[in-house]
Amino acid sequence: MDFGFTDEQIARRKEFSDVCKDLAAKRPAEYVGFESAYDNEPSWEYYKLCAKEFGKRGWLTLDWPAEYGGSGTMMDRVLFSEARGYYGVGGVDVFGIGMLAPTLLAAASEEVKKKFLPPIAAGDVTWCELWSEPNAGSDLASLTATAIRKGDEYIMNGQKTWTTGAHRADWAFGVFKSDPEGRPHHNLVFLLFDMKTPGIEVRPIPFTNGTHIYNEVYLDDVHVPAENIVGQENEGWAIVNLLAGFERSNIDAIMALIRQLEDLVTYCNVTKRNGQPLSKDPLIRNRLAQTACELEAARTLAYRVADLQNRNEMSLMDASALKVFASELGERYASLATDVAGPYGQVKFSRWAPLNGLLEAMYHECFVFTISMGTNEIQKNIIAWYGLGLPRMR
Ligand SMILES: Cc1cc2nc3c(=O)[nH]c(=O)nc-3n(C[C@H](O)[C@H](O)[C@H](O)COP(=O)(O)OP(=O)(O)OC[C@H]3O[C@@H](n4cnc5c(N)ncnc54)[C@H](O)[C@@H]3O)c2cc1C
Repeated sequence: MDFGFTDEQIARRKEFSDVCKDLAAKRPAEYVGFESAYDNEPSWEYYKLCAKEFGKRGWLTLDWPAEYGGSGTMMDRVLFSEARGYYGVGGVDVFGIGMLAPTLLAAASEEVKKKFLPPIAAGDVTWCELWSEPNAGSDLASLTATAIRKGDEYIMNGQKTWTTGAHRADWAFGVFKSDPEGRPHHNLVFLLFDMKTPGIEVRPIPFTNGTHIYNEVYLDDVHVPAENIVGQENEGWAIVNLLAGFERSNIDAIMALIRQLEDLVTYCNVTKRNGQPLSKDPLIRNRLAQTACELEAARTLAYRVADLQNRNEMSLMDASALKVFASELGERYASLATDVAGPYGQVKFSRWAPLNGLLEAMYHECFVFTISMGTNEIQKNIIAWYGLGLPRMR
């Protein structure tokens, strides 16, 4: 790939940065990362404000085909993600924009595209992902929730868990058993449904830091129009695999870390311990420099994934490699930042909390990305099988 940007890309990058910088100035104190949008009203209102602004500018559809409102390229989308991540701005639904839209563009019928893509493009709707169940996570194909076709409807029953943002979402995409007696991987259906449909109950799973982001979702005779299917009945596994590739290829988390490292460097320059700034401590300098190198490597890897996606050459291994590297880097960074801040790094709601309590929040949350979107152990299996051609273990 070419590591340089064109003049046009440089201009777009500036436009994305300028708008995100303005939106960052309106961010409420409660908003600390995209997941906090699900937790409290000020953050949720802020998220929706940003979503509307981006929808109006056509920035939620940058890499879509022109006939569906696309106005750019995959690299524009990466540059836009960078700006949002760097300035800590919300407004892009990871489920609707990041995962579902590219899946619909690739695999849905024209009717489904026409019905569901415009509200996603406008930033009008929020989606959630109903895949995991209490006994089906890594081994998703063993799920037991059902969606059985009756006339022109599917009737859904069962329980899903860990559903991020289900209590805020307007719509959900989910995978269900359509033929309980059928062959594994050829017995599933991928459906889209309104979260307000009768029979859906959402119960919170309180997170360790006291926030409400995750949920259990119970489905009791939920009727869904059969026309809301993506792909074919009993072939939903193909859609799951397609969507999973999009699920793991985001760059904004890396840019958020780059910004946080800059803030930590500033903190080290102004904070004295034992009579001298932290930035003069050789151990701290060494770890900050190491992290900077790893962040540049992660950023380059993300560019590579975007470039491969742009050329339709992305393999399962590429997205998995980025997911493993970036999520483990997030954990190493949280560990570094809390080490540097010392005991104060564990404090949140206090004038003693460095960087407005961000470090405590980060330490609590960083492990999430090594589990959600498919655990890192599973990603390493994918890299071993598809990337390195190693045999499967029995
Ligand atoms: C914070 C959070 C948010 C989430 N959000 C969502 C969401 O919005 N929607 C949704 O559908 N799901 C969501 N999930 C669920 C997530 O996708 C699952 O937790 C994940 O796939 C792991 O499944 P599990 O929890 O059942 O663990 P298990 O699959 O039981 O795994 C337990 C351990 O065994 C390891 N393991 C399992 N199989 C293998 C194997 N073959 N080889 C090597 N190691 C293996 C795993 O890596 C893990 O360490 C979320 C999870 C978390 C923690």
